[in-house]
Amino acid sequence: MASSIAVLVLAVLAFSARWAWWRGKKPGLCVLCYHKIGVPPAGSKLKDLWVSPERFRAHVKYLLDHGYTTLFFSDLKKAFDSGAELPAKSVLITFDDGYENNYTLAWPILKELGAKGNIFVVYNTIAKANLWHNPASEPWVNMATLAQLKEMQESGVMEYGSHTMNHPHLSALKLEDAAWEMEESKRQLEAAFGSEMCAFAYPYGDGAYAPAIRARALAAGYTFDFSFLQGKTLWPWDRAGGPIDRLFIRRGDNNLDLALHLSRGASRL
Ligand SMILES: [Zn+2]
Repeated sequence: MASSIAVLVLAVLAFSARWAWWRGKKPGLCVLCYHKIGVPPAGSKLKDLWVSPERFRAHVKYLLDHGYTTLFFSDLKKAFDSGAELPAKSVLITFDDGYENNYTLAWPILKELGAKGNIFVVYNTIAKANLWHNPASEPWVNMATLAQLKEMQESGVMEYGSHTMNHPHLSALKLEDAAWEMEESKRQLEAAFGSEMCAFAYPYGDGAYAPAIRARALAAGYTFDFSFLQGKTLWPWDRAGGPIDRLFIRRGDNNLDLALHLSRGASRL
């Protein structure tokens, strides 16, 4: 008897260490952050950033089944500019970098289920590869082509934001070069897509909390800047107070993780 109670206690502790259900609910905007959809290639050291299509589909279905409204960056901007309220359960599905698997695997799922997605594109690697990674630790894979990105845009399922020209560590650059990465990518992406780029994500989150860099991001004309910190951000957003945090979806995250991200701002310790 005593041993079965001990086993039960251990099971509850193990469960509670993996899924932080005990954390208090948090208000705020939910911005999911995905990278690659698919199976990680051999040699990948960033396997956590690969989410299988089956799992991605389950996540999107969970959102829609639980009354979430998926938003574009432009929807968020309309609400921010006008002061209009967002739907009670709003969520942004975002992808960083602009991988081809966003086109081949994520887009068909979003389209089929009727959800909206947003991609932070690295302008200079369109139709190339994730050249900023050392291929010894993260193999190069294809990035979406401009034609693929435009096809997704025209389908009414995907919108874009900027993730710089070259995916640098912005704080390692001279301030003027960091500013160019943010300003030039906005100009080039707007010319390529014929729509305003109102959203920017700092590669690696680097620079998001460097006041001089953040000031240049906002001066470049972005309405929103997104960090690499885990969490939810109060809405209406205090733009001067700091960038918008995100909910990082990892390879092993199931629908319970998703529910905890959305309600508590994190699913793990
Ligand atoms: Zn990135």
